[in-house]
Amino acid sequence: MGEGFRAAWFDGRSSRARDVRVTLAPGAGGPSLTLEPLDTTGAPLTLAHRQVQWPEAWSAKRIPRKLVVDLGVHGSLQVDDVAGWHAAVEGAGRTAPLSQRMQTRWSVFLVVTVVALAGLAAFYRWGTPWAATQLTRQVPLAWERNVSERALQDLDGSWLKPSKLPEQRQAELRARFDALAAQVAPELRRYPAYGPRLTLQFRSGMGANAFALPGGSIVMTDGMVEAAARQKLSDDALVGVLAHEIGHVMHRHTTRMIVEQGVLNVGLGIALGDVSTIVSMGGSVLTGLAYRRGHETEADCFATALMRRAGLPTAPMADLLLGIEADATGNKPGAKARQGTSWMNLLSSHPETPQRARDLKDGHTQGCR
Ligand SMILES: [Zn+2]
Repeated sequence: MGEGFRAAWFDGRSSRARDVRVTLAPGAGGPSLTLEPLDTTGAPLTLAHRQVQWPEAWSAKRIPRKLVVDLGVHGSLQVDDVAGWHAAVEGAGRTAPLSQRMQTRWSVFLVVTVVALAGLAAFYRWGTPWAATQLTRQVPLAWERNVSERALQDLDGSWLKPSKLPEQRQAELRARFDALAAQVAPELRRYPAYGPRLTLQFRSGMGANAFALPGGSIVMTDGMVEAAARQKLSDDALVGVLAHEIGHVMHRHTTRMIVEQGVLNVGLGIALGDVSTIVSMGGSVLTGLAYRRGHETEADCFATALMRRAGLPTAPMADLLLGIEADATGNKPGAKARQGTSWMNLLSSHPETPQRARDLKDGHTQGCR
């Protein structure tokens, strides 16, 4: 505690300053302050921590020349020995409020920043998917159908052409598809109340491909049917691919993507203010890819479960996927893809095809819930 220091006390009753010795003592809520008059024989006055308007802390570079401490009904204290005041306050163990320490201490600033970033990461990791699930439930099927119709019209006007598959063949595959769709049991549904009508359409104009539009429309290209024929695979291969696409529909992946990006942008906007535009654009690309990889796994899990339920093998589908990749990369089926594809895989929405194919052959995709 030490000897204390001298200061001038304006007690509020007399206009003259009184010469006092100031001492600080540690207390429960913070230091107390004692004024011991040096000019008269008056008794010392001790003020509890809350009776004193403690001046804000200052940085070492900007020490004020003198200090006025408000003592409420007891007037005020003028301190010329600012260093003495500071030492006494520190010695009596007063800790500044967080907002003050933020201004003076980088370590605290750093901790607060790290906590804020962790909060943001947690929001991204758990908050966004959770919010997206809740919101996706509210999106009406009619909206999805509307979006799909317009998307397919656009595609028909640009990339896609009418299918050249014989009617008979289309009808055959559609019958297999309808039988598969009938096996979508309630326990396979992520959204129990979501029951879109599943339809299959054929198109050409693209390579081997199949995709799901929100609301239940699934499109398969002639190229996919031809790829299966080239590899002399049974139609179970194509049915497996369709099961995967039904998985995308039943998980409402396209709608979730739209909703997730929206939630994320709004969330980042709230958290980051003006910086949000740049950060969220970068974030959208990366998170979009991360979500899509998760969606592919979910669709594979769904396909495995649905095929098992329908009593169909998933191995032919695995062979078809390997064959398509081999066609695309010019490698033998199952061979390691060319140099440069390892980082491409990072940016690809599909997990590495060989691993996927192995899982599908085992009938056990990793990471299924
Ligand atoms: Zn997929």
